[in-house]
Amino acid sequence: MSIKENIDQINKIKNEAAVKAGRNGEDILLVAVTKTRPPEDLNAAIDAGITDIGENKVQEIMDKYDFVKPVRWHLIGHLQTNKVKYIIDKVSMIHSVDSIKLADEINKRAEQHNLTMDILIQVNAAQEESKFGITTDETEEMIHYILENCPNIRLRGLMCIAPFEENPDDARVFFAQVKEQYDRFSKIQHERLDFKYLSMGMSHDFEVAIAEGSNLIRVGTAIFGARNYNKTV
Ligand SMILES: *Cc1c(COP(=O)(O)O)cnc(C)c1O
Repeated sequence: MSIKENIDQINKIKNEAAVKAGRNGEDILLVAVTKTRPPEDLNAAIDAGITDIGENKVQEIMDKYDFVKPVRWHLIGHLQTNKVKYIIDKVSMIHSVDSIKLADEINKRAEQHNLTMDILIQVNAAQEESKFGITTDETEEMIHYILENCPNIRLRGLMCIAPFEENPDDARVFFAQVKEQYDRFSKIQHERLDFKYLSMGMSHDFEVAIAEGSNLIRVGTAIFGARNYNKTV
């Protein structure tokens, strides 16, 4: 199937899952994850209606940026503080904020560029050591730190990567936990806290994630096919 056919198919499943959950498909943002893919594939996705692109590496954004049609870029992977400066004026949202040190650096670079950066806090609901993201207890502390100390950051929500489960239904409990936190923190009254995105769900579990309240899904493989990491971009 072509990239366009895959995108149409995912939108269809996404819309059906939304309706089943009592919501509208249009309220759920599909971010096409394009790691390892060449700029032509990104442009094909944009031609097929994709408005938002997700990359997990700073280097890939920099390599592709000039060759891709206008689109919103999302940094969704682990971000090292020394690389923030390269993407601060290129991405519209950073999903993977998992430390105060990183928040401070984003704030500093955003201030230099006279912009306010939208971020999500990456939570690690499953408490897995192998994945980045902070525990549920640390999230609240970090939110308050950012609101008090980072005037060039706007908090837009939470992100999580559920542990891979053979049966995606087994990930439900993690998604539900993160949704609960999302609802709780979205009530905090502050001019720079404006929760709008709950980023959860990937190719194999996005239907379940939507059922549990996700409104932003990050889909790569189901659009572009399996990744070949030996191929250089
Ligand atoms: C690669 C990646 C995705 C997409 O994964 P697929 O299984 O290919 O859909 C989503 N989120 C993050 C953070 C990723 O690194």
